[in-house]
Amino acid sequence: MARILVVEDEIEMALGLKDNFEYDGHKVITAHDGEDGLKKALTESPQLIILDVMLPKKSGLDVCKELRMQGIKIPVIMLTARGQEIDKVLGLELGADDYITKPFSVRELLARVKAVLRRTGAEEGKNQNIVQTGEISVDFEHMTTRNSANQPTEMTLKELDILKYFVQHPAQTISRDELLDKVWGYDTYPSSRTVDNYILKLRKKIEKDPAHPHHILTVHGIGYKYIP
Ligand code: CA
Repeated sequence: MARILVVEDEIEMALGLKDNFEYDGHKVITAHDGEDGLKKALTESPQLIILDVMLPKKSGLDVCKELRMQGIKIPVIMLTARGQEIDKVLGLELGADDYITKPFSVRELLARVKAVLRRTGAEEGKNQNIVQTGEISVDFEHMTTRNSANQPTEMTLKELDILKYFVQHPAQTISRDELLDKVWGYDTYPSSRTVDNYILKLRKKIEKDPAHPHHILTVHGIGYKYIP
C-alpha cells in the first residue's frame, strides 16, 4: 500500500484512477491542475505521483522538472497522449520514472505502478518510517538513527522531532517561529537562538560537511529549508 498523488484535470479519469488505486489498497490524493499538484506533492508526502502532461496552470513536465530541481525524488509516472512522443522523451529527461500513453488499460497502469513502487522500495511490507537523510538513516517509528556503516548514532528526542518536521515538509521555507510552534509547542518559550543551536547540532549529525550543508539550508532572515 502506498500514498499516491493523482494529478489529472479530467475529473472522470482522476476519479476512475482513484477508485482503482483504492480498490488495490492504496491511499489516493487528487489534484486537478499543475499548481495544486506541485503543492500537494510537496505537502502531502506521496510515495508516487501519477502526473498528466497536459494540465491547466502548470504542465506536468514543469511540475516534474520543479520537483527534481528541488531535490524531491518521489517517483513519477507521466500520462501522455497518443502521438506525443516528444513528451515521453522530455518527461524521462526531466526525471519521470515511467510513462504510459492514453488511452491505457487500468490493469496496465496498475502493473506499472507496482513495478515503480517495487523499484523505489515503497512496496508493501517495507518500513516506510525509515528515512535516509544525509549521512544517516532515521527510523521514526522507533526513534533511532544509524550511520552509513549501519552503526547506531546518538540523537536526542528534540533533534529527531525537528528532523521529522523537516522530512514532512521538504523543500519548504520554514521559519524559526514555525519550528518553535510545531516542535517546542506553546507551553515553552525557548528563543530563536535555541533553534539555531539545535540546527547546528543536527547538521553535525547528518551533513557530510556541516559547514557547507546540503540538506538543512539556511534561508537568510527567515529560517531553514530541508532538501531530502
Ligand atoms: Ca489533461
